[in-house]
Amino acid sequence: MEQKRQFTIWYFIIIFWAIVIVQNFIAQDRVISLPYSEFKTLLKMGKVKEIVIEEQLISGTLDGNGVNGLVTKETADHIKQLGAGEHPFSTIRVSDPALMQDLEIAKVRYSGQMDNKWFSTILSWVLPGVIFIVIWLFAMNRIGTTGGLMSIGKNKAKVYMAKETGITFDDVAGIDEAKDELMQVVEFLKAPERYRRLGGKIPKGVLIVGAPGTGKTLLAKAVAGEAGVPFFSISGSEFVEMFVGVGAARVRDLFEQAEQKAPCIIFIDELDALGKARGMGISGNDEREQTLNQLLVQMDGFDTNKGVIIMAATNRPEILDPALLRPGRFDRHVAIDRPDLMGREKILQVHCKHVTLAPSLELTAIAARTPGFAGADLANLVNEAALHAARVGKDAVDMTDFDEAIDRVVGGLEKKNRIMNPKEKETVAYHEAGHALVAEMRPNADRVGKITIIPRGIAALGYTQQIPTEDRYLLKKSELLDRIDVLLGGRVAEELVFGDVSTGAQNDLQRATDMARHMITRYGMSETLGLATFEEPRTSAFLDVPVSQPPSPYSERTAQVIDDEISKLLAKAHERVELTLKTNKAILDALAKLLLEKEVVDRGTLEGLLSTHDLQPVEHYK
Ligand code: ADP
Ligand code: ZN
Repeated sequence: MEQKRQFTIWYFIIIFWAIVIVQNFIAQDRVISLPYSEFKTLLKMGKVKEIVIEEQLISGTLDGNGVNGLVTKETADHIKQLGAGEHPFSTIRVSDPALMQDLEIAKVRYSGQMDNKWFSTILSWVLPGVIFIVIWLFAMNRIGTTGGLMSIGKNKAKVYMAKETGITFDDVAGIDEAKDELMQVVEFLKAPERYRRLGGKIPKGVLIVGAPGTGKTLLAKAVAGEAGVPFFSISGSEFVEMFVGVGAARVRDLFEQAEQKAPCIIFIDELDALGKARGMGISGNDEREQTLNQLLVQMDGFDTNKGVIIMAATNRPEILDPALLRPGRFDRHVAIDRPDLMGREKILQVHCKHVTLAPSLELTAIAARTPGFAGADLANLVNEAALHAARVGKDAVDMTDFDEAIDRVVGGLEKKNRIMNPKEKETVAYHEAGHALVAEMRPNADRVGKITIIPRGIAALGYTQQIPTEDRYLLKKSELLDRIDVLLGGRVAEELVFGDVSTGAQNDLQRATDMARHMITRYGMSETLGLATFEEPRTSAFLDVPVSQPPSPYSERTAQVIDDEISKLLAKAHERVELTLKTNKAILDALAKLLLEKEVVDRGTLEGLLSTHDLQPVEHYK
């Protein structure tokens, strides 16, 4: 829409100027306009050469030499400006019965009309018209013959404009695997015949999955740029209109235009807005379903050999309609993660290309300070830093500017999620300290990598990250028990310190319960129930379609025993954890305090803290 409007405005400006210029050139400017009295004087002095008498105007040519005393200074100046020789002039015709006589005396040729004038008038109006038509034809040609400007009113579909993106893989950093995967698509778009000849199957649809700002759109544009093909871009939400049928028409229109521009790329952003699983939720959206169906039909109907590749982006692949992911549709999936340390450094390099950096500035240090930043956050960060440096009048951007910018961007990211009051923050600090401490004191648990009480996402207020030392496929009972202990650590710390508990442990408890249940019902780790397994019938995790209750595979009594066993197992774990934390309460306090102060405690700092305290191992059980 935007482009179309711009185009029309541009078009009218050109026509306007064409008219002005042509008319100016042909008619005005060089003509001296005289008061009638001056004209008469010049006529009598023999300076007028020939004239044309029209209804309201007399025009002609005059001899500019030696007129100085005869005319006003203004006229004289004008004549001087035009130089020596004969010049056209005009004057308003007044009723003057003596005119004819004077003309005869001065022997001036006169006529009633001038051919030349008539011609120039026509020209000044015809020429812009011709230009108008030429531009019109040009526009028709550019937009495409069937679509064209005419079709705007015909259906409500949008006229899609293909663009050359000008973006290459060099502009995309830190996501090399995704780039590698898409290289093949680029190859295909560059030389479709080569693949066709060997009968290879070309992907029709590529789905790029990743968090917002990780560069999905950028990557799709880069594929188009690398292959040098046009890029049609549309957002899934744009398809979903108020009026039934419009979305479907748009899809049809889009594919029609894309086929004419093939090879090319169609990019659908926010595919989830359009491709939510059909029949989900209470109020179905007819329009969306129609549009989605149309998309599926189009994807099935067209032939990849024409060289149209459909790329789509989403950050919620799990809610997509499974039909979209079937072979022949979006069957290639490319996942983009938030960049790691190296990746962040590379992305910073890309965005710092045109920024004047202080020589002392180390991008590695900035990358190290920005875990969790996506590409878009980093681009924003560089911009903020450059703005800050400019504001304070520096010649180059240095670390202090980046410090400011990081605070600002991180602040924004944090606020977007949640702000905690101090009391809540303390609760979270103790909770996470509890997890961490128990993890450190259980030989079979994973070591703690990082503890943070910066809220992220909707659910997590804090987070204790454990680093698995190795990939595990088998877990021993002792390991499972230690994991349960770590999960309970947060809750128990809250109990000990505040004498009260919060809702923050819900997820921990759920996971601990699940683990305990699995130990008993799946892995035969309960003495009372022995080696028998008691799997429950599985229900679909996604769809909230109620599965009709199948008969339980075990008796009421067994169910009761299972429940009792789970409770017993968890109660024992609780006891152990309580003992551990009570004996080491001083360290718990110290760690919580440190967390409140720094918000993030990494492994090194944690080890430092533990080494200055005396860890009291607790002999227990098992
Ligand atoms: P998405 O589509 O995943 O939400 P975008 O592709 O729109 O994200 O990314 C927004 C901006 O962030 C890009 O225009 C680019 O400036 C920057 N960006 C994101 N990822 C990267 C990357 N891997 N390398 C360089 N710049 C990136
Ligand atoms: Zn927890």
